[in-house]
Amino acid sequence: MYLRISEDRTGDQLGVVRQRQDCEELCRSKGWTPVEYVDNDISATSSKPRPAYEQMLADIRGGHLGAVVAWDLDRLHRRPIELESFMALADEKHLALATVSGDVDLSTAQGRLVARLKGSVAAHEGEHRKARQLRAMRQLAEAGVPNWPMGAFGYLGDTRQLDPQTAPLVKQAYADILAGASLNDICRQWNADGVRTVTGRPWTAEVLTHFMRKPRNAGLRAYKGEIVGKGTWPPLVDESTWRAAQAVLDAPSRVPGRKAVRRHLLTGVALCGKCGHTLSGSYRTDGRIVYVCKQCHGVSILAENVEPIVYGVVAGRLAKPDAADLLKAEQHDTAEAEKLRTQRAALLAELDNIGVERADGLLTGKQAKIATDRITEKLAAIEARQQDQDRLRVLDGIPLGKPAAAAAVKKLSPDRFRAVLDLLMTITVAPVGKSGKVFNPERVQVDWK
Ligand SMILES: [Zn+2]
Repeated sequence: MYLRISEDRTGDQLGVVRQRQDCEELCRSKGWTPVEYVDNDISATSSKPRPAYEQMLADIRGGHLGAVVAWDLDRLHRRPIELESFMALADEKHLALATVSGDVDLSTAQGRLVARLKGSVAAHEGEHRKARQLRAMRQLAEAGVPNWPMGAFGYLGDTRQLDPQTAPLVKQAYADILAGASLNDICRQWNADGVRTVTGRPWTAEVLTHFMRKPRNAGLRAYKGEIVGKGTWPPLVDESTWRAAQAVLDAPSRVPGRKAVRRHLLTGVALCGKCGHTLSGSYRTDGRIVYVCKQCHGVSILAENVEPIVYGVVAGRLAKPDAADLLKAEQHDTAEAEKLRTQRAALLAELDNIGVERADGLLTGKQAKIATDRITEKLAAIEARQQDQDRLRVLDGIPLGKPAAAAAVKKLSPDRFRAVLDLLMTITVAPVGKSGKVFNPERVQVDWK
């Protein structure tokens, strides 16, 4: 007696109790003594092993069983190939087969045909059901039905409503990433403020990067790793900010673990005045930080000498009344950013088209060149405007043109400060001149961008 529990929703939803009762009755009417084999199998199409079924086959081979009773053939076999090997075995062992839904005599050609047809139909239904389920899941995804747990970070516990405490933090984190802050900066800040993950743990760069990549944060519904539409829940951040942040997170230097640890403020930023290589910081034996050129070994400067100068120059520049001009007169907003991205994508597509038309002989080389040049020019203009957008982000939150800018600069995280530096100026450190031991501030040369 073979019983299979399955969540097969088509046809009779047979509980194992009903299967057992019906099969036992059938055994009684045949005068057979039942031995029970039960498998717990959730899907008719799964290829999961069925230990009880295997045991039953072994017992048939061992000559311990004279007949098999099942509620229906589809309880016994999930795939036509299983039926074939079962029929071969039944033939060899002169096995009788009885089903509640009607006897199938496998010793006759007619009985085998019925068994095969029923098996094929069941297999077809299984495949069809799977396709239907996948289609239904895709439809749910496209309709924006959420597929993430309630109370995810940024949302109130057991809801998909924004949490007034954490939602603004998430929004700020995206802004900070775009402004040049590192994942570690954000984790450090959150952990210091007592912000914990939903499981109550401190944040790490790995956990944060995983979180920041979730399309759901931008109210986007993903299906099988692909964004298929807008979700029905309130987003933590607007879509264009989220997309821009993904690009930043995808940059190789951002991947946690691969990032070289930059312990000192000006490492990789300040340049050697002798050979032009970047300086790198290291600790001297007396514990002071020194920036040296590892390329020509011709320049070295103490951090305590150069860093205050750099901070002073940046703070001075941003506090100047005209500092707001750094942002350019043009107003930018997220809609503008989105427009620029779309325009750029369209131009890139146009460039591709020119290549195709040229290859098809629809354009002469000269025509193609003119068209390409015009598009390249437009692209350059758009990219320049996109950089203005980045500029806005790097300076975000600094009271430009006001004395308070100086204090704001001092509070920037190292990564953010480097981003501001990179935006404003190049710093070159000249070798020690004749002045000898006394530090000469003129060795630090600032070139405005
Ligand atoms: Zn050098």
